[in-house]
Amino acid sequence: MDKRAELYRGKAKTVFATDDPTRLVIEYRDDTSAFDGAKVAQLAGKGETNNRFNAAVMQRLAAEGVETHFEKLLGPTTSLVKKLDMVPVECVVRNRLAGSLAKRLGRDEGEELKQPVFEFFYKSDALHDPFINDDHVRAFGWATNLEVEVMRTITLRVNTLLKEAFAHAGILLVDFKLEFGRFEGRLLLGDEFSPDGCRLWDAKTLEKLDKDRFRRDLGGVVEAYQEVARRLGVAL
Ligand code: ADP
Ligand code: UDP
Repeated sequence: MDKRAELYRGKAKTVFATDDPTRLVIEYRDDTSAFDGAKVAQLAGKGETNNRFNAAVMQRLAAEGVETHFEKLLGPTTSLVKKLDMVPVECVVRNRLAGSLAKRLGRDEGEELKQPVFEFFYKSDALHDPFINDDHVRAFGWATNLEVEVMRTITLRVNTLLKEAFAHAGILLVDFKLEFGRFEGRLLLGDEFSPDGCRLWDAKTLEKLDKDRFRRDLGGVVEAYQEVARRLGVAL
């Protein structure tokens, strides 16, 4: 598959057209950002680690019947995907209290939640990805009622599947973010699943094994991502 014009350069990935108008190449770069792009750095090996990690997770989800955009690995830092018409919202599920919800409610991180919490955020760095509800998603025409229900259902199913997979690896899936897009009339899981977009804590020590290591200057960011991959049995 030929990589053609660069279509979009995001904070961590670059999206290229291909000779097939229905397919894209996504390149995972070593660039890392936090706080809506306010803090940036280059972390050697992160692009390759996340590309391979995402491929393994997407393939496992597909095997469980979750429809995704992922087609195949093309190289160490590149993957072929279906070109989606992206819904401009982030779908977050939380199993433990952390991050922006801990801040919003003024409670300590780590609290166990009595049930998973699903949240929508509007994808806009300029507005700092504001917290929204499903009425906003429908009222602004970002997605239909059916699409809202599909995003919620798939995200919660991914949570059930991955919570279990991480638990077997001795890791707590604290929270994560997914993005969806339309393809031939269906809503598919797009973007990526990697330690850049979730919180993962060692089940025994509660050590952070995700992007919070970068946000909080804890060091060993890529090493932690690779440790997660090793425990999950993902070949890097
Ligand atoms: P950001 O845009 O937040 O800086 P990235 O650097 O990860 O994020 O850029 C990847 C971009 O590609 C995101 O805007 C994401 O919504 C988009 N994207 C992911 N998967 C697809 C897809 N299959 N088709 C079209 N766009 C996609
Ligand atoms: N997240 C993400 N991209 C974003 C915002 C959040 O991948 O633009 C992930 C984040 O890594 C965490 C989850 O979504 O795993 C919930 O994030 P939260 O709302 O707590 O925001 P944060 O404080 O991480 O910015």
